[in-house]
Amino acid sequence: LFISFEGIDGSGKSTQCRRLVAALEAQGREVVLTREPGGSPGAEEIRALVLQGDADRWSAETEILLFTAARRDHLERTILPALAAGKVVICDRFADSTRMYQGLSRGDLRGTVDQLHDLMIGREPDLTILIDMDPEVGLSRALSRQGVEERFESFGADLQRQMRAGFLALADEFADRFRIINGAQDMDGVAADILAAVNVALAE
Ligand code: C5P
Repeated sequence: LFISFEGIDGSGKSTQCRRLVAALEAQGREVVLTREPGGSPGAEEIRALVLQGDADRWSAETEILLFTAARRDHLERTILPALAAGKVVICDRFADSTRMYQGLSRGDLRGTVDQLHDLMIGREPDLTILIDMDPEVGLSRALSRQGVEERFESFGADLQRQMRAGFLALADEFADRFRIINGAQDMDGVAADILAAVNVALAE
């Protein structure tokens, strides 16, 4: 089973990914936790290229190519081999993040993102967990962590609101694989809802 986590910055994806790994391992399953951009040695190098430096270091189109290149390497080297070995793969962000960030935040490039995805990736998660929450709540939570402030300055509150609405629309578009989780609950409640959704998918 291939599971992705999506949501705006500060929605608690990384924490909840780790909690899900622990819960599934307690069930005796083999789990691979990975993330994007990155998730394989080559893709981590590309991550450094796209996330460091000025926001206008790459054109929007070049950035889409870099994210797609990273995803292709990640898929070939990490995700597909783990799935073939019967493991559960949990990925902190996947192509839906590119549909949102690269597809919406620097003009309307969703069509380009989708064309490249069809050509070079062609694989969706079996289950996508969308942790939905108010951007202001996410921001205040994230600011209590060290080192996040800078990222939030480059991705302003308006973009966060646009991304939230975009993710909810995406959940409608891909309703068969998306499950929306209420991220405004306490962490235990969020983790319980996620585990329930994953157990349903594992039983299918
Ligand atoms: O998942 P994480 O929060 O570590 O992502 C790092 C940063 O990269 C975030 O600020 C996120 O908004 C951004 N990002 C992006 N495009 C993607 C994935 C992440 O701009 N496709």
